Amino acid sequence: MNDWVKEIPKAVLHDHLDGGLRVSTLIELAELQEYCQLPSTDQEELKEWIKPKPDKTLAINLEAWAHTIGVMQDENSIYRVTMEALEDLSDDGVVYAELRFAPLVHCQKGLTPIEVVDSVVNGIKDGMEKYNIVSGVILCGMRQEDNSQEVVDLCIEHKDVIGFDLAGPEIGFSVLNHKDACQKAYENNINVTLHADWEVPEGIQEVVLNSKAKRVGHGSQIINDIEIDNEKIKFKNDAAKYVYENKIALELCPTSNIQCGAYQSVGEHSFGTLYKNGFNVTINTDNRLMSDISMSEEVNNVVEAFNLNENDIRSITKNTIEAGFVNYDLRKKLME
Ligand SMILES: [Zn+2]
Repeated sequence: MNDWVKEIPKAVLHDHLDGGLRVSTLIELAELQEYCQLPSTDQEELKEWIKPKPDKTLAINLEAWAHTIGVMQDENSIYRVTMEALEDLSDDGVVYAELRFAPLVHCQKGLTPIEVVDSVVNGIKDGMEKYNIVSGVILCGMRQEDNSQEVVDLCIEHKDVIGFDLAGPEIGFSVLNHKDACQKAYENNINVTLHADWEVPEGIQEVVLNSKAKRVGHGSQIINDIEIDNEKIKFKNDAAKYVYENKIALELCPTSNIQCGAYQSVGEHSFGTLYKNGFNVTINTDNRLMSDISMSEEVNNVVEAFNLNENDIRSITKNTIEAGFVNYDLRKKLME
């Protein structure tokens, strides 16, 4: 790891709260709640079980989410996980972090959706103060569910929420099924960023043109919609042109993409070409626990693979904060 990468201020836009718990906290919360479903209560064993397997038999361990969400069903646990996320990110040199999660899956033991959101918002407020980091929360609807409007309503109702996202499986669950939710978010000035992963070629079009998202969650597959000819960029469709011309931020998550099988290595990731050709790329962790990755490691991988230097990372970080959804005054202070 390059020392300067750890030290340099970093910013992350795409980090799932329920995908970033400490292993020790997962075990402690399970113990406290008499939650007996963890495959192991030994830290090393559990970490090994959650980690993606190198032979890619099990890319990302989807079962792990049942457990992280399983222990985040009361106010104290949700608050603690939020505070710890900000502490860990801050310790890692992150100065700006947007966290996201799907509030409605945390209502299994009686919390109301607004209580769930309050717990995270309180964690963020206290964490910002205690750990000297600027942060905000994005609420996710799930593509496979039909309650995304309810999530948009929560974004409207809760003034501290900074944005709306759609997460979950993408193949067979189009963003277009959530047209009304996205329209409502748009009409109510809710910032929208939507997942558009590598598996769905038309994803970018659906997200930015049909759903008016201000950013794209992932979006690395946009590389297939452009051609570089004599160092000039040619667009194969309107969506790619729109993303480029409007400097729509792409929330790229290299490690997560590799673990899901989209790329063999960071060097093969579209990040390098997109960055070199002027797309507004950002570097993100997606799920720190499930992917066994920190923000510094994520940045370091990109730095090494594409020969970037401190100025590259400073400029990416500045663009990242500029594309952020947290209120402008706080972001402006950071950028200065
Ligand atoms: Zn994600």
